[in-house]
Amino acid sequence: MKSNLDFKFDGELSACPICLSGSISYSYTTIHAPLCLPGFRVWCCRDCGVRFVNPQPCHTSLKEFYESPEFQEINYSINATRLEYISDPRKKALYEDQVALLRHHKGSGRVLDIGCGVGEFVRVSTDYGYDAEGIDLAADRIKFGQAHLGLDDRIKVSSFEEFMPAARYDFVTCWDIIEHVKNPKLMMQSIKGFLNSGGIAVIRIPITDGIMFDEEHPETWKWVMAPYHLFQFSNKTFEWLMHTCGYQVIGHQFAKDANYTRASFFRSVPQFHRTVESKIILRALVALLLERSGVATTIISLLGKGNVATFVVRVNASVA
Ligand SMILES: [Zn+2]
Repeated sequence: MKSNLDFKFDGELSACPICLSGSISYSYTTIHAPLCLPGFRVWCCRDCGVRFVNPQPCHTSLKEFYESPEFQEINYSINATRLEYISDPRKKALYEDQVALLRHHKGSGRVLDIGCGVGEFVRVSTDYGYDAEGIDLAADRIKFGQAHLGLDDRIKVSSFEEFMPAARYDFVTCWDIIEHVKNPKLMMQSIKGFLNSGGIAVIRIPITDGIMFDEEHPETWKWVMAPYHLFQFSNKTFEWLMHTCGYQVIGHQFAKDANYTRASFFRSVPQFHRTVESKIILRALVALLLERSGVATTIISLLGKGNVATFVVRVNASVA
């Protein structure tokens, strides 16, 4: 699957899939870039501001895409990288930062990781004493995690739509997942049914407010990644989604991982060649500072310019 021509599509949406506003318009067509296929049309909602692929590839086409040899090859290298992350103490610290978000609220409890991949977060949170489980659509990743991370039946193949929990969870986590799904609203509504009273969801997503997003050239953003990613949120649009799904945001932080800052920035530099050169230099400097200096990270966070954000949310008691 090399371009949008290989896909079959659902009908074109005439309303925003997040806020249902009819005030939506075509924004741009995706270009060829790392992990991004050309030719997908991206629309923007004038009311809530979310950007989304429209029309969306149909379920069958998306399934074929994720099972295609090209994706399997990428998957294989991702799996190997995840294993390396788990065995390298410095890299494992990134997952420990994720666990710290849970520990801030409760030091133990049941955790469900949706889109768990090979289960690295399930592994680390289990090591910290949580009773963690994970689900993912990719059978090869689940098999890999069961074989290499000792997770056995803690992780299994399931979609969030099909998943039937044996009991409710204290935490549901979704690391870089919600932008992939065809219906983020349905996902957040399902998560409510998985959480126990007072339970917390932790959602990480790429954010269009970050230093790598160019308003004049939105098609150059590293995380367009069509058709892996079907939605692009800003902090504001994501908060809007949480609010309409009956959640309140109780925590928000930007990822400090260099993968989300400098390294990924330099990989994406060719995409910026068509934009103003001075901006490239400015971004390179900011990205370099971001990685090297804790102070710069703090400043970027304060300015709300991080590229990837984690939201900690709780079901709003007044509407639950
Ligand atoms: Zn909208």
